Amino acid sequence: MTLSGECFCGEIKYRVEGPLRDARSCHCSRCRKAFSSQAYAYALVEPDHFNWVSGKHLLTSYIGGQGFGLQFCSKCGSTLCGIYNNEIHGITLGCLNEDPEIEIGRHIYVGSKASWEIIPDGAPQYQEGAPQNA
Ligand SMILES: [Zn+2]
Ligand SMILES: [Zn+2]
Repeated sequence: MTLSGECFCGEIKYRVEGPLRDARSCHCSRCRKAFSSQAYAYALVEPDHFNWVSGKHLLTSYIGGQGFGLQFCSKCGSTLCGIYNNEIHGITLGCLNEDPEIEIGRHIYVGSKASWEIIPDGAPQYQEGAPQNA
């Protein structure tokens, strides 16, 4: 499977050669701020499967605690991927151009979701992290 993704302004593009794994949505207050939305929609990617195609020089990184960070476009602000110890960890589903043929498999930290959010049915919801493999 080959997938492509890009930021809102289109300057930064990437390609994923291989399947995505473990799509999930986190509704905690920190993710709301980090992703400027009700939750994030994110899936894991194998580092070997991921390549930047263009615009890498426009990437800005925000490194948070425990080695996790986010990379976003310094021009338009799209958050494109998550990194762990400077290696690609996963991608935000919103920047994909094609159907990744996976769906959100779980909603996590719904116990701290925004009061205004209504979470759709269809995937398991966890008050905090998933019981295992979080
Ligand atoms: Zn951009
Ligand atoms: Zn979160």
